[in-house]
Amino acid sequence: MNIKTKLRLSIGLLFVMILLLTLIASKYVYSLRDDTTNILADNYQSLEYSRNMLAALDQMQADPNARLAFQTNLKKQKANITETGEAEATQRVEDHFLDLLSAPDQAELLPLIRKNISEIMGVNMRAIHAKSDKAVLTVKSAITWILIAGTICFIVSLTLFINLPGSIANPIKALAESFREIAGKNYAQRVHLDRKDEFGQLADSFNTMAEKLEEYDNSNLSRILIEKKRIEALINNMHEPVIGLDENKMILFANEEALKITGLSMSDMIGRSALELSLQNDLIRALIQQPQTASTSGSQPALKIYANNKESYFEKEIVDITITKTGERQKAFIGQVIVLKNVTMFKELDFAKTNFIATVSHELKTPISSIKMSLQLLDNQHTGEVNEQQRQLIESIREDSDRLLKITGELLNMSQVETGNIQLTIQQSKPEQILQYALDAVKTTVDQKDIKLMILVPEYLPDVKADLEKTAWVLINFLTNAIRYSQPESKVLVEIREEKNAIRFSVKDEGKGIDSRYRDRIFDRYFQVPGSAKTGTGLGLAISKEFIEAQGGSIGVDSEVGMGSTFHFELARA
Ligand code: ADP
Repeated sequence: MNIKTKLRLSIGLLFVMILLLTLIASKYVYSLRDDTTNILADNYQSLEYSRNMLAALDQMQADPNARLAFQTNLKKQKANITETGEAEATQRVEDHFLDLLSAPDQAELLPLIRKNISEIMGVNMRAIHAKSDKAVLTVKSAITWILIAGTICFIVSLTLFINLPGSIANPIKALAESFREIAGKNYAQRVHLDRKDEFGQLADSFNTMAEKLEEYDNSNLSRILIEKKRIEALINNMHEPVIGLDENKMILFANEEALKITGLSMSDMIGRSALELSLQNDLIRALIQQPQTASTSGSQPALKIYANNKESYFEKEIVDITITKTGERQKAFIGQVIVLKNVTMFKELDFAKTNFIATVSHELKTPISSIKMSLQLLDNQHTGEVNEQQRQLIESIREDSDRLLKITGELLNMSQVETGNIQLTIQQSKPEQILQYALDAVKTTVDQKDIKLMILVPEYLPDVKADLEKTAWVLINFLTNAIRYSQPESKVLVEIREEKNAIRFSVKDEGKGIDSRYRDRIFDRYFQVPGSAKTGTGLGLAISKEFIEAQGGSIGVDSEVGMGSTFHFELARA
């Protein structure tokens, strides 16, 4: 039975019950009203007429009008005969009254008439009693029937009250619950209502929908699985080691190359926490370590790993994976992919280059030194007079050989830095001594360019822990750059001051300054600010950084385009 019919029947039944109750009550009320009306109309009137006749009879001797009153009441009584025996009694009253009228002296007729009237009254009194008994019975039967109908009404309403809301609300609840399950992607959810009404039809439709969704989901799943396999094959065929982590650093995937270099098996890695694994495996620890972004050199040192039967070098790249989830605006972090780029070949080439540069620059140093020596001899009076033109040529050869010596020196220093062969002799040194060393070296250049060199050094300065030569080399590099990138006759300020636990050396110029875009890169090897004079190698600042950092110090620059630059380094005090 459908819900509509059920509701109709229930409400209809209630309606019928209420109607029945009303009819029964009305029927008995009417029947009671009939009983009382009958008593009033039939018997009470007759009693009234009889009483009037008795009164008229008593006054008949004295009052001539009494006879008329008697006759009038007798007439009314005759018209109101309702009970058995009443007609005969009334007839007897009339007969004896007529006899009395024809023979008024017959005194014995009066009691006779009174007796006859009493008979009428008796009949009516009995009828009243009988009718009253009947009314009582009617009331009793009315109460019984109304109680029966009321009880049935109550039972029906109670049954509906208990069952109807549940029979409507329960399936709605079950359906709502199932819809929630479907929204939570549980497509295996079904509703079993086992009824033929609208809810049953709704449940059938819901089940069909869920079945279709499940089918769709499964087909999607298989497609996704194929795609997953394809991506896995792709990652596995990559020559670079690749490791995927989720947001909690659990390892999701790792390709063959990654397994090879880590020396772990698939089951050792997949599903395991990378943090946990890193406690046993140094390589995993190095891989999951986040790069330090603060580094000024930009690139991270390559990882040295034994792979492909030789020492190999890998550059690590950690890519953060973020997605925007359905219905959300914010991007959520869901994990990382670690990719290792095999840079062994470049490293080998780099080594070869460094060795070559080191050898060449070393080999060049001796002939250049001998050229310089020869120049000095040429300049000497004992070797003979030179004319003005020859003197200029000698000067130009000296400048070029100085530059060559500087370049070979820088290349040699760089090759030392690159091979990690910096030989430091750190000792307690006087800052003034370092400064003097540098000033002596740049004296000629300062004079040539007419630079106003200003020195700001406090009277007392504590010693520093430094390699005297290398630190002076850095200061010389700062000074040569300051002079090179300044206009002639401009000011260059060299300052040494004491800082908390350190001594700070700085060289401030009034040159063109350095654009903020390049400020971080000028300490990179071979980097030269675009547009600057190409006379240098782009190595001076890179070597300076290596020298200072190797001594545990720090190096930096403050600069503003058009206002000049201040290069500085700090070393720990002794
Ligand atoms: P280079 O031998 O080219 O001077 P450096 O490593 O010493 O190499 O300097 C790198 C680059 O930094 C230079 O090419 C130059 O453009 C810039 N630079 C260095 N010092 C200064 C300075 N005092 N003023 C302006 N630019 C400078």
